[in-house]
Amino acid sequence: MTEIGQTLVRELGADRVAEDAATLAAHRMDYWILAHLRARQGRLAGGPACVVRPRSTAEVAATVRAAQRLGVAVVPYGAGSGVVGGATPPDRALVIDLSAMDALLEVHDTALYSRVQAGMLGGAYEAAVRARGYTSGHYPQSIDRSTVGGWVATRAAGQFSTRYGNIEELCLGLEAVLPSGEVVRTALVPRASAGPNVREIFLGSEGTLGVITEVTLRLQPLPARRELASFAFRTFHDGLEAMRRIVRVGWRPPVLRLYDAPEAARNFSAWAPADACLLLVVSEGPTTLVDAELAACAATATDAGGTAVGPEPVAHWLEHRNVVPSWDFFLDREMLADTIEVAATWDRLGALYTAVIGALGGVEGMVVASGHSSHSYPQGANIYFTFVLKPANFADAERLYLESWSRTLRATLDNGGTISHHHGIGRMRASWVAEELGSAYPVLLALKRALDPAGVMNPGALIA
Ligand SMILES: Cc1cc2nc3c(=O)[nH]c(=O)nc-3n(C[C@H](O)[C@H](O)[C@H](O)COP(=O)(O)OP(=O)(O)OC[C@H]3O[C@@H](n4cnc5c(N)ncnc54)[C@H](O)[C@@H]3O)c2cc1C
Repeated sequence: MTEIGQTLVRELGADRVAEDAATLAAHRMDYWILAHLRARQGRLAGGPACVVRPRSTAEVAATVRAAQRLGVAVVPYGAGSGVVGGATPPDRALVIDLSAMDALLEVHDTALYSRVQAGMLGGAYEAAVRARGYTSGHYPQSIDRSTVGGWVATRAAGQFSTRYGNIEELCLGLEAVLPSGEVVRTALVPRASAGPNVREIFLGSEGTLGVITEVTLRLQPLPARRELASFAFRTFHDGLEAMRRIVRVGWRPPVLRLYDAPEAARNFSAWAPADACLLLVVSEGPTTLVDAELAACAATATDAGGTAVGPEPVAHWLEHRNVVPSWDFFLDREMLADTIEVAATWDRLGALYTAVIGALGGVEGMVVASGHSSHSYPQGANIYFTFVLKPANFADAERLYLESWSRTLRATLDNGGTISHHHGIGRMRASWVAEELGSAYPVLLALKRALDPAGVMNPGALIA
């Protein structure tokens, strides 16, 4: 057993620490396809030396202190659903698996919040609060395979975010163990004007600034009513214009999802006219609000050139929205697929979409490059690009994959966008963060050095 393993056995007990091959293999990578490709090709370097499953914040703190003393890299691990390598551990790392900290601690009916341990799976959390008449309003596609702590650590976005907000709006407070082993808790208040918001430091920190152990989340009463509608558009740009006008005047339908023509044909050919783009709308909340919102969305979509298609495509999406093929499906066929979600202001979004699709189209072996927009704001929206590659020679897969990513991120930055809307940086995007943050990058570096001077927390993620 490693020295850190022996130390943790003494401090936490033998049942909390594992170094057997199966446990190490289960924590060898997250959902980053490049790690899966490298593993298949026998080229995935590194991997954890020890996995610990603490039961309490005190045990997390003892673990982090031991890792600091011994100079061992620490990787917090939620459920490993991250898609950019944030939880693909470097060589000989200590993985802190949060899965034993999975309790719903409190549901507060009067003040509409809950306290939950960071390792609770999203689906279990949602089921527990629904049983009390509430919803989190946060439904990432990975809800059943991601943790509440992982949501905060990656600045996640749910499919109904346009009404309920992303995780940074839903997270009211948190508790975290700093790299020093000290425990910090932010105050439980609806809003504060008490200096910079310390909670925000951990939103998107990706395990590099500490371990999130508990999260306080806003709750929403279950909506009284839900209605669905969809609209076909001749071009993606017409659909974006309809979305812009809808959110601009204050409507917040939880779902406004615009698929470009290839994705509409792939997913909704039973309903969408050929070559059309398709906008899905879900409205929910008090009955009078839903009536008014749906009427406003229909009028705006029609005015922007859309044609009503009906509720069926939306019902189909609701039923199948969390079904995704595994990476093995593609790798078995010597293909690679991935998604890259970016965002920009409305004035830049159309050009960004055109530039990225064009840039991806130039990659050798590209089978299809497509996009949809799933999160809107009065100022702009995201675009979620999907690409599928079939290299003539599979030995070129990694080179072509990295070229696809770098073409997409280059075109995004050149068109004034952000390199990530909600999947985070991980190891895949780390070399692009300095350019994205520009003059603000030294602030991130100073924060990292101040909180983690020895660089023990998740080295290589977020900060290259
Ligand atoms: C099929 C699929 C669909 C997805 N859909 C969405 C979606 O709709 N919206 C979305 O936002 N994302 C989505 N994702 C991405 C992923 O689910 C999110 O990034 C999620 O928030 C990660 O949670 P996790 O618990 O699995 O974290 P992990 O993958 O285990 O870790 C992710 C990062 O967070 C850090 N981390 C995890 N837990 C903690 C903690 N307690 N304290 C400190 N750091 C921690 C890790 O070190 C790592 O850097 C999807 C992924 C898949 C595979």
